[in-house]
Amino acid sequence: MVEIFIGLEIHIQLMTRSKVFCSCEMISGEEPNTRICPVCMGYPGVLPAVNEQALFLSYLMGSALNCTLAQKTWFDRKNYFYPDMTKNYQISQFSSPVGRGGWMDYLEKGELKRVHIHDIHLEEDAGKMVHQGNFSLLDYNRAGSSLLEIVTEPELTSPEAAEVFLQSFRSLVRCLRACDGNMETGSLRCDANVSVNSLGMGLGTKVEIKNLNSSRFVRKALEYEVRRQSRLMQAGKPVIQETRLWNEQSGKTESMRTKEEAKDYRYFPEPDIPPFVPSEAFLNRVTSSLTELPAARELRYIREYGLTEETAHYLAEERERAEYFEELISSGTEVAAAAAWIKGELAKLQGRYAFSLSDGTLPPQAVTTVVRMTGTEELTVQQAKQVLELMVQRGIVQPEEVIAQEGFKKAEDDGELKEIISKIVAEHLNAAEQIRDGNMKAVGYLMGMVMKETRQSADPRTARRLLLEEIGCKQEE
Ligand code: ADP
Ligand code: ZN
Ligand code: MG
Repeated sequence: MVEIFIGLEIHIQLMTRSKVFCSCEMISGEEPNTRICPVCMGYPGVLPAVNEQALFLSYLMGSALNCTLAQKTWFDRKNYFYPDMTKNYQISQFSSPVGRGGWMDYLEKGELKRVHIHDIHLEEDAGKMVHQGNFSLLDYNRAGSSLLEIVTEPELTSPEAAEVFLQSFRSLVRCLRACDGNMETGSLRCDANVSVNSLGMGLGTKVEIKNLNSSRFVRKALEYEVRRQSRLMQAGKPVIQETRLWNEQSGKTESMRTKEEAKDYRYFPEPDIPPFVPSEAFLNRVTSSLTELPAARELRYIREYGLTEETAHYLAEERERAEYFEELISSGTEVAAAAAWIKGELAKLQGRYAFSLSDGTLPPQAVTTVVRMTGTEELTVQQAKQVLELMVQRGIVQPEEVIAQEGFKKAEDDGELKEIISKIVAEHLNAAEQIRDGNMKAVGYLMGMVMKETRQSADPRTARRLLLEEIGCKQEE
């Protein structure tokens, strides 16, 4: 039996308007090398100044991750050479990170799990290198962006756990609006460290895997690496401590550099940036910006509302969705109905019309009204769905307005419906004949017309019964 140890080093690009030590705008997709200045390009004689919003979001993350927050924090220079960084050192934190010794709770299949956080520290991002054949291009727009690194303890015990943890972490940073959490664009990046050892023997020799830009790749790379290291162990061969890269094409990790080549960063305090001592007001602002985190929400939805793990997860995962769900409930929709409408019709409409639940397109009170009307049979479910769609299409927020425009009302009685049906049958004697001959396909054709004529207000079962009676066909399919 082997034991698996996984620790993650996660980088998130903080959602600050400008970069961390200069006033360049943090924006992606711009013409290369247009969002740069002497500070982020590391010209001699420039003076960096720390972005307070970056510090705020760092402390907010530290607080959400239950870290001990630094009463005094400062920056260090991490010295190394690489072309994506013009200064030959990165301004980072080494001896006084913003937060230390925290933890994050997350849910794996409805079960609460905890991973400890070693530390979180604020630093600047490097530029981007684009390799093209035998030369490389450099884009420094990203250089100097606010980057927060979160280092976990090696407590994750399987590749699946690492994937689930990372997804939960992503949900947390989005909830706090600290980072957009997008792994494809590199706003959230992850290096995974993994070792295996015989059961009870403690940590093994770790391998670090870089270049993982989706949580699925994190799992796949770790699965491969666990197999590779287990095989070495069984063959009595040592695992070499090294950095490896995930190759999605081959589905393998490949050696990038070994420990011997590891650099000594010669950290020393950044002399140009004074230490930061958070004021009481600053720390109060941090505390009051915390909200219920996705994992806690999910657990509450399961326990308080009796929702399934899957539904609770879906609703709690995105803050907007969770808040919308709660507003539906507080405006009078029942829990099960609120969950079903969000997962079903609202998700469908959002996909079709690309609006967000919080942008006022479909205010929760309006949805509550529509859902209530299905309960009192003022609207059929089909009509209710139509009302919501028309509200979106027409930019109307009052369901009553759409209902009036469409003339939706409950079919008064069977008499009215009978009249409509006999008119339709009289106009389609051929179809009626076919039905009497046993061709039940024609029933659907006539039913379509009945529903259209009644503007979907007829109860389909009643309509079908009356239609068959009218045709003189008692037999059911
Ligand atoms: P380094 O000094 O090489 O950066 P750290 O001790 O700072 O290593 O740890 C970096 C990451 O590697 C952390 O996420 C940590 O949890 C993880 N880690 C450390 N040792 C091991 C190990 N033996 N097996 C698996 N992961 C490990
Ligand atoms: Zn700049
Ligand atoms: Mg380290």
